[in-house]
Amino acid sequence: MASSLHFLMIPLMCPGHLIPMVDMAKLIAQHSVTVTIVITPRNAERYGAVLNRAGASGLPINLLQLRFPATDHGLPDGCEGVDDLPTFKLSKNFYDACTTLQQPLEDMFNNLKPTPSCIISDKNLSWTADVANKFRIPWVVFDGMSCFTQLVTHNLCASKIHEKLTDFDTEVELGAYGTIINSFDDLETKYVDEFKKIKQGRVWCIGPLSNSNKNDLDRAQRGSKDSINNDGYMKWLDLQHDRSVIYTCLGSLTRLTPLQFIELALGLEDSQYPFILVVKGGSRIEEIEKWLDESGFESRVKGRGVLIRGWASQVLILSHRAVGAFLTHCGWNSTIEGVCAGVPMITWPQFAEQFFNERLVVQVLGIGVGVGAQRAIHLEDADDGVMQVEREDVCKAI
Ligand code: UDP
Repeated sequence: MASSLHFLMIPLMCPGHLIPMVDMAKLIAQHSVTVTIVITPRNAERYGAVLNRAGASGLPINLLQLRFPATDHGLPDGCEGVDDLPTFKLSKNFYDACTTLQQPLEDMFNNLKPTPSCIISDKNLSWTADVANKFRIPWVVFDGMSCFTQLVTHNLCASKIHEKLTDFDTEVELGAYGTIINSFDDLETKYVDEFKKIKQGRVWCIGPLSNSNKNDLDRAQRGSKDSINNDGYMKWLDLQHDRSVIYTCLGSLTRLTPLQFIELALGLEDSQYPFILVVKGGSRIEEIEKWLDESGFESRVKGRGVLIRGWASQVLILSHRAVGAFLTHCGWNSTIEGVCAGVPMITWPQFAEQFFNERLVVQVLGIGVGVGAQRAIHLEDADDGVMQVEREDVCKAI
């Protein structure tokens, strides 16, 4: 039976933030707490299958749909997630559009029953703190990063080593009651302990959140209902030797330049191992497809290499016995999913805190090898990025 507790969850509409929040909603609801997750229509369609199934199984989960004013903010119609942006130069428009959800949410608040007891929201949605203040309920931040990263960031700021570290904003969550982290004590004990000290104990490591997907259908549809059409590559995986396949996916946002993509593909080819390579869209996808078409790459690796265009069921793939290594960009979700699957990692960080995660994986935990990426890519300029990793680097790391 549901208790009188009701948690209102407000995710950032970006796969790396929304997916763990969906997992978290299920986890919280399993403790008989009513959960309402604020979502927009297109995201409800994309992520709703898993949530609706959880609801149908008796978990007290509701979806509160709010219209997303994409076109009012210069975004294409139907663009409701960061990974839908035609270019990351429109990120500010996207965040501005998110801010406008505050008023309709406040208008709906009093209709929510039982009255919400707290708000759990993404750290990047600072306006949600105002909603919590207005309705006098605690605001708990979901921070999609590890405790290791929290400490690195904290120490960088405290030491003022680099005065211009504007990206490292630890002030945002100052008014929060506490912080939820997708991690677990045994993974980074020292850093969890230290971070708890800084936050007066109000840090809850409730991960690994991906473990809340108990069956293959939930694993298959995690992050996109469409990835149910994955029969082909799962059957191919069934034919491969144990721990032989290199699964390569650089997250939901990375868009490699054609040059960099070619080096990655050729590095995988040269490695002689079977592999899966997830190919994302982006503004230069036609050039990538043209190369794939004209270079003969796909016919050369036929049977040994599988390209997944679009969304891959990552957690399902990683749990397959045939996967032997994970070539990852070290997004925190991917990192912890790799850890849970027990596969060694080949690390190619791209942006944000991914370089810290690489340090944790390679230098602290000793469960990965880097390809040698040295410089962060700025998503907004990613299309103009220069090449920094060559096929030999990829092949050698594998
Ligand atoms: N993901 C997936 N299929 C894809 C790409 C990504 O299932 O084709 C999932 C992945 O399992 C992870 C999330 O999307 O849960 C990506 O989050 P992460 O923090 O690793 O990286 P980001 O996408 O934020 O850079």
